[in-house]
Amino acid sequence: MKRSEIEAAVTTGLAAAQAVSGGKNADYIPFLASVPSDLVGLAVVTTDGTTFKAGDADYPFAIESISKVFTLALVMETIGAAAVREKLGADPTGLPFNSVVALELHQGKPLSPLVNAGAIATASLVPGTDAESGWAAILHTQSRFAGRPITLSAEVNASEQATNFHNRAIGWLLYSAGTCYGDPVRAVDIYTRQCSTLVSAVDLATMGATLAAGGINPRTRERVIAADHVPPILAEMMMEGFYTASGDWAYTVGLPGKSGVGGGILAVVPGEMAIAAFAPPLDAAGNSVRGQVAVAHVAHALGRNLFAPR
Ligand code: GLU
Repeated sequence: MKRSEIEAAVTTGLAAAQAVSGGKNADYIPFLASVPSDLVGLAVVTTDGTTFKAGDADYPFAIESISKVFTLALVMETIGAAAVREKLGADPTGLPFNSVVALELHQGKPLSPLVNAGAIATASLVPGTDAESGWAAILHTQSRFAGRPITLSAEVNASEQATNFHNRAIGWLLYSAGTCYGDPVRAVDIYTRQCSTLVSAVDLATMGATLAAGGINPRTRERVIAADHVPPILAEMMMEGFYTASGDWAYTVGLPGKSGVGGGILAVVPGEMAIAAFAPPLDAAGNSVRGQVAVAHVAHALGRNLFAPR
């Protein structure tokens, strides 16, 4: 694919995103409500490590739910893909991200590591004897995917830890069903911290490009995860990456992706690139309004839909 084609798609993708309005910053986490709503950033990183970016692509924002992908990767490296499927599942819940209903209907099995119940169960499987060692492993994993040291925002974390009562309840529900595989207080603590790190759209695109490149970070050339673990992770993203709009995203864009309530969106084109955007206002399903437009625009402009014959 020509450099100029990607450059043009990123430039027009930013303009397409800026042309739409609507949505609202997440406000159930006080910090997120305070982020300027007019920011828009877009980035592409290819599997040869080339970066294309436009707008506020270097602006640091809270990774939130997109962190679930990378903690899943860490746990998959630790216990293997078969155990992940058995303990955490791979099916969409079809319910809002923090729903407890799926747990009730499926004897406590979380169904997917990419929504809160499954993500907290995933965090309970992070190796380490205490919260600090588990947290260090998560941060190290995010950093290896990004190819630079990722850091916790003390401000975001304080805001989340002070308001995460619903997630604490999920931790205890999992525990009572036998699907929290360790101390639920530790699991929710490290889950909350993993959501509170700061990344830019360029970081996210690099993290996604590591998946696109079969587990090797295209910038550092470090192998971050086994190649065999990439397909099941991308399958989880396709099934459950966009909350209750995951099916709509698959139908209209056809790429595995993940969004977060911080306004980030990541999509992966296996073998080629990752496309990432950031714009805080969210739609009713919790996905960035402008971020979706930006990423979908690039995917369409470059003719990258996994289900389209090429
Ligand atoms: N920290 C957020 C929560 O668990 C992340 C949610 C999200 O981005 O979906 O409530």
